Amino acid sequence: MKPLLIDGAWVTTAHAEENRNPSNTNDVIDLYAHAGRAETQAAIEAAARAVPAWASTTPQFRFDILNRVADQVIGRKTEIGTLLSREEGKTLREGIAETERAANIFRFFAGECLRQAGELLPSVRPGVSVEVTREPLGVIGIITPWNFPMAIPSWKIAPALCYGNTVVFKPAELVPGCAWVLADILQSAGVPKGVFNLVTGQGSVVGNTILEAENVEAVTFTGSQGVGSHVAQACIRHMRKLQLEMGGKNPLVVLDDADLDLAVDCAVDGAFYSTGQRCTASSRLIVTEGIYGRFIEKLTERCRALKVGDALDAETDIGPVASAAQLETDLKYIEIARAQGGNLRAGGDLVKGSNEGYFLRPALFTDTTNDMRINREEVFGPVASVIRVRDFEEALATANDTEFGLCSGIMTTSLRYASQFRKESRAGVVMVNLPTAGVDYHVPFGGRKSSSYGPREQGRYAAEFFSTVKTSYIRA
Ligand code: NAD
Repeated sequence: MKPLLIDGAWVTTAHAEENRNPSNTNDVIDLYAHAGRAETQAAIEAAARAVPAWASTTPQFRFDILNRVADQVIGRKTEIGTLLSREEGKTLREGIAETERAANIFRFFAGECLRQAGELLPSVRPGVSVEVTREPLGVIGIITPWNFPMAIPSWKIAPALCYGNTVVFKPAELVPGCAWVLADILQSAGVPKGVFNLVTGQGSVVGNTILEAENVEAVTFTGSQGVGSHVAQACIRHMRKLQLEMGGKNPLVVLDDADLDLAVDCAVDGAFYSTGQRCTASSRLIVTEGIYGRFIEKLTERCRALKVGDALDAETDIGPVASAAQLETDLKYIEIARAQGGNLRAGGDLVKGSNEGYFLRPALFTDTTNDMRINREEVFGPVASVIRVRDFEEALATANDTEFGLCSGIMTTSLRYASQFRKESRAGVVMVNLPTAGVDYHVPFGGRKSSSYGPREQGRYAAEFFSTVKTSYIRA
């Protein structure tokens, strides 16, 4: 059994769950400890005890540790990338790229340890100066989803530790393996006991214990809108600092003047790579009528040629859906889209692999309208739909007509349309002539409306969430 990490010790539990490979459900990856309330509470208390010593370590000390984490992640990238692919279903190429990204995130925040600067401001009072500094918050609860099991935990754990906080980390039930490897690396890189704690287990048990604990100062959550709203209510009830990153229904606008091949490449990548299981996936393709016919034809051809199969097979373009439950959701939405009049141009059917796996051929719908459920609700699978519009103005209005606001994209050779879209798109991240998915690791990430709540993640902007500002008035 792969144990929990509490107060620097590996802890086994009476209950453990096995984890299986979505490409081959006969492949049992390992057994993972399932924490109950008592273990979670112990982890929170250990994290609280560790705060004063960790918060007063030198930036150089934290810099060295985070760099060692980065070194180990990169040194083990093939092993970790393979585990990621076995566990979550991303192709090996994507699994290794995500592992490299995790290493880069730790490297970036190692550097940030040495770049934390305050401000000295003049006071309106004579002989007084004002010093503005950032301080750690204390214990941070980190709750993450399954779709980026290395990158998302890393972009929360690294800044939490960088700015002097301690961590209780609860990964998604589907991906305990990557979380465990991260814990193993943090431990062997010299993170002192209690500073980082791993509690694998159920959201309703481990997650809720974190949300209700008195000594958790802040919670950073990435996951679905439904659970996010539950997390928000608990945090607000306890007056706790809160950061939420949730779903998307991201539009990719394709205008008449777009480079057709590039538009098709970006649509395929944005909609279907990582099996469409990305919060930034281009699930709504909004296409103007002058290019519509040619775009659909090429895109349909490309969709049909995508090779769906075992994530570890080098030939595979699209790995399996991550779980039986997610596959059921995807199939349900395919039926809903059909019933509401969508025209299924490609895919949507199950693929028989050499093993028992959750293989779904990417589904492409045309003749959809923006009011259909397929265009209003997040599916979180390899399902995309095309909406035909007259012109740029209608495309922009359609792109913005959604409750989400995570990412948006436009394919155009017109500087005027690109810049108007960049300004008027109500999304946190805008892509021009790029797929909506695929964001850099050192720049701010996050959305608007129902997609996000609270300060941005990643890059220097992470300081807003992971530290608090102190204003000191000093009379010399
Ligand atoms: P989910 O909401 O089901 O689970 C997320 C986490 O919350 C898991 O660790 C889960 O165990 C935990 N949880 C569940 N119930 C809980 C409770 N009652 N209290 C506390 N924690 C609880 O999401 P998921 O299925 O793992 O991930 C898919 C979702 O994540 C999609 O909606 C996707 O858009 C979103 N996502 C968003 C981003 C982003 O940055 N915006 C990135 C990746 C994924």
